[in-house]
Amino acid sequence: MPISEQQIADRLQGVEKRISLACQAHQCSPPLLLAVSKTRTAENIRTLYSSAIKNFGENYLQEALDKQQQLSDCDICWHFIGPIQSNKSRAVAEHFHWVHSVDRLKLAKRLSNQRPSALPALQICLQINIDNETSKSGFTANETISAAVEISQLPNLTLRGLMCIPQKRDTVAEQRLPFEKVAALLSTINQQLPNGTPKLDTLSMGMSDDIEAAIAEGATFVRVGTALFGPRQHR
Ligand SMILES: *Cc1c(COP(=O)(O)O)cnc(C)c1O
Repeated sequence: MPISEQQIADRLQGVEKRISLACQAHQCSPPLLLAVSKTRTAENIRTLYSSAIKNFGENYLQEALDKQQQLSDCDICWHFIGPIQSNKSRAVAEHFHWVHSVDRLKLAKRLSNQRPSALPALQICLQINIDNETSKSGFTANETISAAVEISQLPNLTLRGLMCIPQKRDTVAEQRLPFEKVAALLSTINQQLPNGTPKLDTLSMGMSDDIEAAIAEGATFVRVGTALFGPRQHR
């Protein structure tokens, strides 16, 4: 059964409640809610859009382009959050406002070269493989600082911050540890950036199961799919 508008509205309320409770507990300002809409329909997106959600994250290029066409009447900020093969980088550079999944220097250079000059700079985050998992892409913590300094100087990108997808952990206390490391890495990068380079201000971290832990460590975007739309069917 497809999810109903009412179910999405109820789930959104639940997610917003979790965010506001976590922000009260940790005395922080609320992160932006990035609704992860991979595998969901354009109608599902429209439902959230009419509840004032403007940021949507997609993982699969062709699926995202199809939905962008169906939703061209909406003022949506589109975020690409999935792995990017080099032969897909041009379309990503042309059709998104943000990319959270920049996982290698070569990809950053391609996106900068391919970003159309008529568009504002592409907003990007570097994906950090914070648990050093062989199954996940991303920069290791060690590589990140020199890569960030180089990427921050590329012309058609604005390096905004860091993104991570930690391993599953069972308690909030454990979930906080990788997020704390990524937040510390962001501060270190900011100390090393050349004079005059804008500071990084974005921590894209926290998904349906670890929103609270990410907020406790300073998330500025939480990327939420399942908690908003229900369980995903396999593609
Ligand atoms: C699918 C996905 C999410 C959302 O995960 P949920 O557990 O469904 O909230 C967040 N970030 C990335 C990069 C994803 O691929």
